[in-house]
Amino acid sequence: MLDARELTPSDHISGEELRARGPQAVTIASVTKVEMSSLDPNKKIKKPRGVISFREEGARPWVINKTNRIILQNVFGGGRCGKQPGGPDEHADGLCNNTAHWVGQRIGLGATTQQLGQETTDGIIVVGADCLDAPLVVEVKLPNKKPRKYTVSPPNGRQSRAQSQVQQRRADVDPNTGERVPGVEA
Ligand SMILES: [Zn+2]
Repeated sequence: MLDARELTPSDHISGEELRARGPQAVTIASVTKVEMSSLDPNKKIKKPRGVISFREEGARPWVINKTNRIILQNVFGGGRCGKQPGGPDEHADGLCNNTAHWVGQRIGLGATTQQLGQETTDGIIVVGADCLDAPLVVEVKLPNKKPRKYTVSPPNGRQSRAQSQVQQRRADVDPNTGERVPGVEA
């Protein structure tokens, strides 16, 4: 099938295509600030916006919004960026504020429903990060909006390893009697 949505590819990765194709894993190549038009067609102004490019071939850049900026600051915070701060502000409040530390990090992007002016559209949201060992819940408070919680997951393999360890621990117990089954290692 030639998907009609692929007839007019945008210069940037879109929530619509992530909705159609499912979440995508990408590795951050660069974080820059560029002057560009507002995504809201009703606002004909140019303003600086953060753009994240990726290492994967064919992965188009991502125009980051405030929600995702806050999520990434939290995801790479808490020492998870693996870098030493060069100044006191760089890792203030458990956040990673130095975008140079974000380069090389692998994250998962998925689709979310967002309000853009009067319209409800598909937006992009961070759904996973390789630097996580456990799901991370980030509460984002934007002005004039209800606080919203977003869960960012560790890589699938790491999560399923943890789950299979739980299952292995249960394997030594008889599911009917709850008694230990001899010969099965805990
Ligand atoms: Zn950092």
